[in-house]
Order: sequence, then C-alpha cells, then structure tokens
Amino acid sequence: MKEMPNVLWLEEIKKEDIISVGGKGASLGEMTAIGLPVPKAFVVTAQAFRKFLVETGIEDTLFRKLERLDVDDNGALESVSREVQDLVLSVGIPDQIKAEVVDTYARMGANGTVVAVRSSATAEDLPEASFAGQQETFLNILGDDALLDAVQRCWASLYGARAIYYRSKQGFDDRSVNIAVVVQELIRSEKSGVMFTSHPVTGEPLTIVEGSWGLGEAVVSGSVSPDNYVFDLRSERVVDRLIAEKEIMIVPEGEHGTKIVELSAKERTAPVLTDAEVARLAMLGKIAEDHYGIPQDIEWAIVANDVFILQSRPITTIRRPDIPRAGAAAAGQQSSPLGVVLLEGQGASPGIASGRVVIVRDVKETSAVKDGDILVTKMTNPDMVPAMRRVSAIITDEGGMTCHAAIVSRELGTPAVVGTKKATKILTDGQIVTVDGEKGTIYEGAVEAPVAAPAAPTAAAAPAPVITGTLVKVNVSLPEAAQRAAATGADGVGLLRIEHLILGLSKTPGWYIEHDEEEAFITELYTGIKTVLDAFPGKPVWVRTLDAPTDEFRNMEGGEEEPLEHNPMLGWRGIRRDLQSPGQFRLQVEAFKRLWAAGYDNLGVMFPMVNHPREFIKARAMMAEWGVDVETATLGIMIEIPSSVVLVEDFIKAGIRFASFGTNDLIQYTLAIDRNNENVADMYEPEHPAVLRLIDYAIQTCRKHRVECSICGQAGSDPKMVTWLVEHGISSVSANIDAIPRIRETVARKEQQILLDAARRNA
Ligand code: PEP
Ligand code: MG
Repeated sequence: MKEMPNVLWLEEIKKEDIISVGGKGASLGEMTAIGLPVPKAFVVTAQAFRKFLVETGIEDTLFRKLERLDVDDNGALESVSREVQDLVLSVGIPDQIKAEVVDTYARMGANGTVVAVRSSATAEDLPEASFAGQQETFLNILGDDALLDAVQRCWASLYGARAIYYRSKQGFDDRSVNIAVVVQELIRSEKSGVMFTSHPVTGEPLTIVEGSWGLGEAVVSGSVSPDNYVFDLRSERVVDRLIAEKEIMIVPEGEHGTKIVELSAKERTAPVLTDAEVARLAMLGKIAEDHYGIPQDIEWAIVANDVFILQSRPITTIRRPDIPRAGAAAAGQQSSPLGVVLLEGQGASPGIASGRVVIVRDVKETSAVKDGDILVTKMTNPDMVPAMRRVSAIITDEGGMTCHAAIVSRELGTPAVVGTKKATKILTDGQIVTVDGEKGTIYEGAVEAPVAAPAAPTAAAAPAPVITGTLVKVNVSLPEAAQRAAATGADGVGLLRIEHLILGLSKTPGWYIEHDEEEAFITELYTGIKTVLDAFPGKPVWVRTLDAPTDEFRNMEGGEEEPLEHNPMLGWRGIRRDLQSPGQFRLQVEAFKRLWAAGYDNLGVMFPMVNHPREFIKARAMMAEWGVDVETATLGIMIEIPSSVVLVEDFIKAGIRFASFGTNDLIQYTLAIDRNNENVADMYEPEHPAVLRLIDYAIQTCRKHRVECSICGQAGSDPKMVTWLVEHGISSVSANIDAIPRIRETVARKEQQILLDAARRNA
C-alpha cells in the first residue's frame, strides 16, 4: 500500500490532491503553478492528521463523543467541543510526523522563517465544501516548538463549537471531515485585505477590493471596516471607492502572535490603496478567475511594492438576478422608494426583510431574539449562529464582505448588511425596520412585499433565464435546504438522500419497529420528503430509498444490533438490505404511498446499490403487494455498481423509468478504490477511462430506449465532467446547490457548441 506523504510543498501539489491538502492548500498549489505571487509554503496533509488520530489512539473516543451530541443543545455543544479539543491537544504528535514537519520547516529558510499557520479543512466526498473561516489560523509563528503547537491547535480547531454546529446542519459526517494545515511564510504586510474577482452578489464583472492597514486578519475577522474599491473590468477603471474610518490595525508582535495598534487620525482616513494598486490586484484576480473558470474570493497583501496572493477560493454565493429569494420580497420593489433611509453599510447577503430590531451586545442576550426579528450587533460570533438561524435579517456595525456575519448569512440565505459603523447606536430595541441585503440599506418601518409586478416593463429588463435542453437538477439531503435548492431554479431534485433525515432522528428504523412506533417513523419521513416536494411543485423529485451502511447506524439508539461488518461499503446497505428487511422497506413505501395519495405525482423513487434486475423486479413486486400502483409510479435505479452498467438493457426491459449515475460509488467499485480511504485517495479517479467507458455505454443504451439517464454523484457538480456528459448525450444532471449556476452555464455552453458545430457542418 502506498504511504501518503505527511507534508507536501506547494510546488508538489496537484489539483487532485485536494482531499489531502484541503481547498486552501490545493488552491495555493495551483496558483503557484500558474505563476501567481504566492508566498512560500508547505502543507501538513490530511493524512498526517488521520495518522495522528489513529496512532495516538484517540480516534474512537473522539468520534463517539461527537456522534452522541445534540448540536442544538448549546451547553452540550460547548462542553463536547471543549472535551474533544482538549483530547486532541492532550496527546503528542507521533515522532515521524513531527520529524517531517520540522525538517521541511528547516528547509524553508536558514535562520527559521516566521510563518502563518492556517487550517485547510476538507470533506472526503465534498472536497470543495466551504468550511471557510471556521478553523484557526495562527500568525507570526517562529521555531519548531511553536510551529508544532500551532499545527496541533489547528487540528483541534476542527472541533470548535461553531465548526461542529455548521457541519451538522450542513449534513456532513464528522468522520469524513479532515483537516490539512498550510504553513506559509508570513508576509509582514503594510496593507492587506480581500478581493472578490466578480461582484459576490450579482456576479457582474466588477472586482471588489477591500483593504486596510497591517495584516489581513483585521479585514477577515471583521474587527475593522475596510476601504472598499470597485474596479470595472470592462473599462479597467476604479469606478467607486469608499474610504472607511479604520480605527486599528493588526501587526505581528515580537516572536509570537499579533497585536492591535490604534491608528493615528491621519492613517484612519487615508486611502489604503492607489488606483494603480487596485488595478494590479484586479488583474491578478482576473488571472485566477480565468484559470479556475469561476469568480474567486482572494486574500492579498502588499509589502513595499510587492503584491502577494495569500489564498483564493471560489465564491459560492453569486445569485441569479432573476430568482427572488424565498421568503423575501421580490426584486420589483427596488424601483419604488422604500421610505426613509436610516443607515447604510455593505450589502453582504441579498434579500429584503422587515422586522423588529433586537440589539445584542452580549451573546447571553441572544435568548431575547425571536423568530423573524432583525439581529443588530457590533459583530456576530460563532455562539450567535443558533440565533442567526431564527432571524429574518442581520445588521452589524463592523466588518466587510468576508466577515463572520457575511459568510454565515450567505450560507443561511438570510439578508445581511455589515459595516454600518453605528447600527447599535442609531437603531433601538423594538424599532421596526426593513433591510435590503443587496443594496446595503436599512429603511424605517416595514415595507410590504410588493404584489407581483405586471409583466411588461420589468420583464423586458430582466435577464433571460438560462434554458438548457439537458435538465439541470439539484441534490438535496436536508429538508431545511429545500427552499434554497428551489431558489436556484433547478429543474427538479435528482437525488433526495433520506439517510440524513433518518440519521437525524437518532433512532434506527429497527428501533421504531421494535417499539411499535412505526407511525412516528412514517410521519417523520412523510413530513421531511413533503417539505422538498412542496418546494418543487410540478418538477420531478427523485427520492432515494434508504442507503446507510451499518457503521452509520451503529451509534444510533437501536444501533447496538447492527452487524459488525469487515467492509460496510460492500455490506448490508441500499436495496439489498431493504429487500431482506421488509419491515424497514415497508415503512418507507408507506410514506411514499401517502405522498402519492396526497397528489404528489412528481415523486419518483430511486433504488440505490442495485446490481441485478431481479432486485428491481423484487422491490417493485413488494411495493405492488403493499398497494402501490407500480404501473404509474416513477421507479428508477442508481447506477453505482459496474454490474448495473453491464446489465442496463436488462434493467430497461424490467421497466425502470430512469437511471442515475452514483459516481461516488461507481468509481470506487470500478477501480477498487475505497472512497473513504485516504491511503488510496490519489487513485480515486473520476475520469479514469474505464469509468468513462462504463458511463458512455449506459448513456447510449438509455438513449436507444428513450429512458432518462442522469447523474447525481459528486462528478455531476464538476463542470469538466458535465461538459463530457453533455457531449455524450446525458439527459439530465443533478448537482449540489452551490454548483447549480455554474453547471447550468456549463451545460448551456456545451449545448450551444454542439448546435453550432452541427450548423457549420451542414452549412
Ligand atoms: C453516489 O454513490 O454517487 C451517490 C450519489 O450516493 P452516495 O454518495 O450517497 O453513496
Ligand atoms: Mg452511492
């Protein structure tokens, strides 16, 4: 077995190494490769972290603590987070890892280099997941001991309360989340900040540069309201600048850590950047955006005349202007005056909402925040996230587009205005206001949601939606994400994983059956699935029957009886388990039946892990026996095992109405590469010719028989793979929520190209 390296230099990192080095590490490696000015760095890989967990023997205790945690119980969240972090810090780093880190560090520079130590978290099956800002960064680190200590603290920060909470709510399994650590030469920046290579809300070709004095930490953490410059990439000019009052800067202190320095009156109001510097930054940003093919969120630093790019990651929040946010007022409102302007700041998360102001000066006051209130605070912090979920909008005094409030609000889809400087002073508790999270404006009073605008003039001004012949659907795991998923305008749900719904119940289906609580289980399933169906009226929603491997059930109540399997990936899961556990299968079918009876005929049912048509035939027969009209029901399969590709024609003859590639599994079963095993992660190759040939064969066979062929594995969120799939005739693709705009554009572009090529050939 190939031993994965514990450390990698940026120059050694390839794009495919994202699982080992995290998004931040992979991006730095790639930027280095395209010649951007990146400070020297190496990465302590995710494999080193996993070895640390295993070799110190803390792995099982750690995950057991997390699995039992109810993250909505604030007290428990805090104490488990503390316990787990203490556990990570209580053991020594294994000698081999220590030696490699110290040795690599020594090769960075002769007399010890001052470094920044940054976390780079990654999820195995969603390596590009945005965990931005949730783990620690340590600046101004010098010397072996301080470095090793900082690395270990980064590892521990994977289990900060906020990070655990976020992952749980986003449906991530803690076991599949890893952390790499970037060790990078510290740039003693005179000025620094962030930049969005395109507008982070509208996607227009406007580079937004935020800058302040000293280290970039001040902007990223929101402790300073930065200058804001807008550079128009079309006219190549700075078209707007807002010089903020910058009260402080953060600078390195001595040999360890940083300190806050008050700025002089002159420095406070002096512009941080010249137009030439903004232009230079925007040009570097454009190189990164062109290379990645997607707008980037970049951290930069300037020292003397040298510009450095510290990190870059994709912006995942660009909103299609033609889709109003669910629950928020529609865009037509903007043309009518909304009333008296009380305050202005930066529009950090789009949407318009009205409500009662609640000013929070201390996290202990968040209990006063009720559903639908407007949270007003100096700056949000991780402890406020549960309250942030309840409110209809967020306003802060401090911060820029990348501060905590901005990032979290965008993820939650809650309108937010940040950096107003004085919201906590000007607004009063109980006051009713309206927040426009796109424009960055706060109005007096409640502005009523407008009646749907008459079509003519506004419709003419609205950009045309991107129409694709290949349907672009969305994957959903948590019913609470249904509205956000629907707001992408997706053509339906190509995969609704019900495991998350069931794992969230904390009791196994077997427990419900044993305790005569079957009705409760059916109701949970019915309600969860209905939430998603309601968000997609008239559009197909393919609900997958249960596919949880035994190891995921084991820690739930009732899970003690789960068999201990040597290899759960190849074990008792998917349709094979349901067929052998009719009790469990029947409860799911009962929920589907009730939904069909309630008129949800857009519900389709998809069977996972099928490997022979007889499984499909048997599952359908059982459903028929339980009263389902299987002639009219939309029943299909996941293609996750090579056998189901080889036999796809037989499945079609057996009556499947659709097939969808589960590439996460299809790749692992084709290449014999465990998708959760970091030792072989570099051989997990979605574009392996054998995988592509299997996919192509299945697509062509489905096309021949006019059966819908789709994809719902992670590869369906990868533009390169999607281009290939459209070229090969796939009928639909299903991608993650954040990837939809990009995938829709990719599909449209490829389709146009195909049409154009055909027209030219026939000309
Ligand atoms: C897949 O295998 O690609 C898939 C979508 O299913 P899961 O990731 O849930 O195994
Ligand atoms: Mg699968």
